[in-house]
Amino acid sequence: MAYDNDNIFAKILRGEIPAQKIYEDEYALAFPDINPQAPVHVLIIPKGQYISAADFGAYASPQEITGFYRALSAVAKKMNIEESGYRIICNAGPDSHQLVPHFHAHILGGQKMGHLLATTG
Ligand code: AMP
Repeated sequence: MAYDNDNIFAKILRGEIPAQKIYEDEYALAFPDINPQAPVHVLIIPKGQYISAADFGAYASPQEITGFYRALSAVAKKMNIEESGYRIICNAGPDSHQLVPHFHAHILGGQKMGHLLATTG
């Protein structure tokens, strides 16, 4: 499967769709999810063109992978959820309900979230 240059997050990276920048560096961009599922719900995306976690893990450079996870930690700190805790969700492929085909992590926090998966939805 080829990377789709017209996906929403590619457009956000190119500045064609607005997003509030919570964090940005050479490797990653973080912005609020438009449909938040928790008091803190931030999306973080790599700047490189990777479709999913599998694609990112297989083909991103060590610098890109390290940069992405360092940025993720920086976002949690900036959002003041480092101490209270947070959940990271990366959907990959049809069974996961991944909607946007640019690798992204959801960072969720600000409330107790229960154990792993909701049973409905
Ligand atoms: P996923 O199901 O993991 O692909 O999640 C995609 C997420 O992108 C959903 O939670 C959407 O609410 C979110 N989303 C879609 N469009 C935008 C946008 N323009 N700005 C911020 N978040 C968005």
